[in-house]
Amino acid sequence: MLTKAPSVHDAESIPDAARDEIDRLLASGDLFRYTAPEDAPVALLEREFADLLGAKYALAVSSCSAALFLSLKALGLPRDARVLIPAFTFAAVPSSVVHADCLPVLCDVGENYRIDMVDFEAKLADNISAVIISHMRGHTSDMDAIMALCDARNIPVIEDAAHSLGTTWHGQNIGTLGRIGCFSFQSYKLVNAGEGGILITDDADLLAQAVIMSGAYEHNWRKHGEIDEALEAAFARWQNRLPLYNLRLSNLSAAVIRPQLPLVAERVTKGRNNHDYVATKLEQSPWLTVPAKLAPEERAPDSIQFNLVNMDDSETETFARSAAARGVKVQIFGMSTDNARAFWNWKFIPGETPELPHTRQMLMRACDTRLPARLTREELDFIADALLAAAQDAKAEPTLKAG
Ligand SMILES: *Cc1c(COP(=O)(O)O)cnc(C)c1O
Repeated sequence: MLTKAPSVHDAESIPDAARDEIDRLLASGDLFRYTAPEDAPVALLEREFADLLGAKYALAVSSCSAALFLSLKALGLPRDARVLIPAFTFAAVPSSVVHADCLPVLCDVGENYRIDMVDFEAKLADNISAVIISHMRGHTSDMDAIMALCDARNIPVIEDAAHSLGTTWHGQNIGTLGRIGCFSFQSYKLVNAGEGGILITDDADLLAQAVIMSGAYEHNWRKHGEIDEALEAAFARWQNRLPLYNLRLSNLSAAVIRPQLPLVAERVTKGRNNHDYVATKLEQSPWLTVPAKLAPEERAPDSIQFNLVNMDDSETETFARSAAARGVKVQIFGMSTDNARAFWNWKFIPGETPELPHTRQMLMRACDTRLPARLTREELDFIADALLAAAQDAKAEPTLKAG
């Protein structure tokens, strides 16, 4: 038995293979992606990532938020266009919509963390120009129903796959289902570069626009690997017609990311096994439940989300306090002040905060604990046992209910 809680706060460590390339870049000073005439680390990363996911094109940028912003700009949405997003996501997602001069419209989310399809279909009819499906914490909503509804109305779908690298739907990679897929290399994602993002698409016209707007001034788009005929034509169409937002990625970041790509498959398998092992243990408690995934989905979790059952607010607080005292930090999305994943804190969205009863109810009882792929069985046992004991504590301290 472990006596000390494992650290789940640390990000994935960087493979040694990154060091030689970083030394080479430091020695030459070649940090800007457009200095070398070809084969810059960022351009190589784009090819490798597109191949890994099975997409035609990729564009690496400074963050997933930047990728979402460029996706919306590349779709050519007019000012104040309404963009439908799930109400359970990170504040960066509605922020990217506001950044693109569009209006976020929030859709209700159920207690299984997935989009409420009744509300989705109703909101979709309300003058929606584009949809961002945010696979929050890697939970995949019903993409068959979503794509069918959006395709029938010719509404473009952007996938926010920031936390879904390695997740599949009917065996197809998440991020390749919509028109564009956006990923993050921020430290708490499966591939850790501190900061960074990438978008993938099969659409040459969207890619060319995003490349130029990301900061490929003059003819720097020629340094984006092999340019096929469709891309050549698209670049010619958009040359000098788009603003340059300069959201590029540095070669140093690419050098940190590239040696992690061959590790993705192993991290996915380990992460899934860890998650399912802890989930099975938590399900033994009558007060904890881990919502099931949808049938076509194969998950790639690096954290676990579960709901508290039959606990009131004070029991919920006792649960979090007891888990923390046992060394396991649990975030309850709706119970912490100023949480960036609670939609009522997104006061930067114009207009009144909408009523989203299912999302609100879920956020008040949904718990979030990191579960990095590197954890051992013993460490997983420690975490699961602490959570089970905390649930016992919460239900066994009636005196706290008064306060
Ligand atoms: C992390 C995250 C983002 C933001 O990614 P950045 O690279 O930090 O901009 C967006 N959406 C989801 C679901 C995320 O998990």
